[in-house]
Amino acid sequence: MSIPTEPVGSLPRPMALQDKIAAYDNGDIEFSELQEAQDAACKDSIERMEATGSPIVSDGEQRASSFATYPLADTLAGKGLVDNLAGDGQYFAIFDDGHHRQLPRLTGGPFRYKTFAADYLAKSLPYASKPMKQAVIAPSMLMLLYPLDGEVDGYSRDDFLADLVDECEKDIRKAFDTGAVRVSIDFTEGRLANKNDPRNPWTGRHMLDEFIQLNNRVLDRFSAEERVNIGIHTCPGGDCDSVHSAEVDYAELLPSMFKMNAGYFLIQLASEKDKDHVYELIGEHSRDDANGVPQVAFVGVINPQDPRVESAQEVCDALVRASNFIPKERLGSTDDCGFSPFSLDVKPKHGSPDTARDVAFEKITNRIKGTEMASEQLAL
Ligand SMILES: [Zn+2]
Repeated sequence: MSIPTEPVGSLPRPMALQDKIAAYDNGDIEFSELQEAQDAACKDSIERMEATGSPIVSDGEQRASSFATYPLADTLAGKGLVDNLAGDGQYFAIFDDGHHRQLPRLTGGPFRYKTFAADYLAKSLPYASKPMKQAVIAPSMLMLLYPLDGEVDGYSRDDFLADLVDECEKDIRKAFDTGAVRVSIDFTEGRLANKNDPRNPWTGRHMLDEFIQLNNRVLDRFSAEERVNIGIHTCPGGDCDSVHSAEVDYAELLPSMFKMNAGYFLIQLASEKDKDHVYELIGEHSRDDANGVPQVAFVGVINPQDPRVESAQEVCDALVRASNFIPKERLGSTDDCGFSPFSLDVKPKHGSPDTARDVAFEKITNRIKGTEMASEQLAL
């Protein structure tokens, strides 16, 4: 037995790939040429992640426009946007460095995914010799496609949510059916829901309980056996080496978050100032029986926004410390976030996305080593 360890999912897209995305957005190249570059980046991502010793790998989400918009559009600029959406939706987040990311806006029904995460996974699996995981987006993020106030003509909010829950369930099932051994649901909007930022109205609407209930509508469609391998990822955001909600106290999120009947949680923690406070909250609020599954807490031991590479010893020490608060049979390790959840990200603090990729693999290598050291020390 050893402490389980798992990445969140994304890696920086190589600069060569980001250049191809820009060229495709400009109409200078065909989609097939972009796809060739995506395939090459996925292959490279998998091979390099396998070389870190990681027991489970991802393709770095190199084909996805972003962790949130992959079902809706081919590129972040909105190429191939799905029917019934317009580009001018609400801000998903305004980051600390001042940049923002915007969601599309629903203009009519029915709501359907254009691309499932499994469509990308199917192309990447042949490159992998180790088990693969797949990240998917939470329904609680995509519910923000619906205008905050009022109704879409001919498509009620309830009808939209019913369609959304169906699509999210399909997204997870297809990932397992295609061959993923684990599926984690990105839930970065959870912490942001308590931010109350007047520039971004939805964050002041106390939507957290609604998010939790909606996500449980999806999770409750899965058996306890299936939910062992369905996770939830929480973080204060991660884009262009910046965050959006780190100032929100985890005490406002974690008691609600663990009400979701998921089998595991990937929790940003390496970049927290008061780690004991968070370990304590996890120990107190994670459940050993969430409708039939014990909740395993994968604590973040690597900060993907910071170019400094954490040592294996630091990783080990963090896990040993965490085990004072969290039962060790329900403890795991992860990175605080994906290394680049959005496709266009030059990783400014790292100097370039290519440097950031090299750094990411060094960090993952040390997460794996440090987790093994902690497993030995805790005599698992
Ligand atoms: Zn994240």
